[in-house]
Amino acid sequence: MAVSDHDLIHAWRQVLSLSKLEAGQCVTLLTGADTHPQTLRCAMTAVQSLGGIANRLDLPPVNGGKSLSRDSLAYLGTTPLTGNRTAMAALKASDLVLDLMTLLFSPEQHEILSTGTKILLAVEPPEVLCRMVPSEADRLRVLHAGERISKAREMHVVSAAGTDLRCPLGQFPAITEYGFVDEPGRWDHWPSGFALTFPNDGQASGRIVLDRGDILLPMKTYVSEPIEIMIRNGFAQSIEGGLHAQLLSDYMESFDDPEAYALSHIGWGLQPRARWSTLAHYGHEATIGMDARAFEGNFLFSLGPNNEVGGSRTTACHIDIPMRHCTVELDGEVVVERGRVLDGDIGGRT
Ligand code: FE
Repeated sequence: MAVSDHDLIHAWRQVLSLSKLEAGQCVTLLTGADTHPQTLRCAMTAVQSLGGIANRLDLPPVNGGKSLSRDSLAYLGTTPLTGNRTAMAALKASDLVLDLMTLLFSPEQHEILSTGTKILLAVEPPEVLCRMVPSEADRLRVLHAGERISKAREMHVVSAAGTDLRCPLGQFPAITEYGFVDEPGRWDHWPSGFALTFPNDGQASGRIVLDRGDILLPMKTYVSEPIEIMIRNGFAQSIEGGLHAQLLSDYMESFDDPEAYALSHIGWGLQPRARWSTLAHYGHEATIGMDARAFEGNFLFSLGPNNEVGGSRTTACHIDIPMRHCTVELDGEVVVERGRVLDGDIGGRT
């Protein structure tokens, strides 16, 4: 259902205020072929209404001819910034970049962030943005989960469907996504709401059993029958099951890259305004599935690269898989119990 410009401008103003936008700061709106016109229009108005100096940088798409999917997260690799000195100069000179294009992780993005520029990705449809305007409470809750991950040496995940996965931790940092950028050099994604990390390289092992209703992204499908994925030495060694296992396998084979099968980020969803069922209402190309990634209590794991946190794998293939009803433990302490988040003590509140 459509939202009014008034409501979307209001949402943008909240996000920009949480991101500490100050009058006189330079904001670049990064746009591309798939940027939603209402999102662009309302973001521009909101920036100017808060006294920001707004610029627009429109870049041509890349990789479209290589990807098997129209989803903007489906094919990593080079970005429109690769070798683009002019765009890099503009983005580095900005206080804040609103990424309405989907600038995927890249060395260039890392370089921009290292100058102190903040980047906020926002590409979901306007009504999804309005439904999931982030809050300070989201930030506190996600940061708390991130702190728990930072201290842990092992994540253990089990489910009644048969999942039993052990991921040694400590090599890579915890990453928190709560939907706004309140610190210099921060990257975030509106909407989101989850904490994650990456298993130590080559050390995760066990069995993942996707149950009916678990979600494959970027396919944006609900699994209709179990898929069993055996993980050894940090890599998926086998993917077995029915039709959806075959669809997943065929898609991954198309990249012809052994690194596609590496276990990538692992974590859990913490966004109460995200819903597991939302994806059932949307066409495959209308959303990138942030409800699916962020809904409260899902165990989200992925297959693909780990260079985002300093690892060596840079595969173009990236599969995100939110699972329901899992129990997640950090060093034996339960943080998600059969799909229900156990927050622990957040600053005096439980
Ligand atoms: Fe991912």
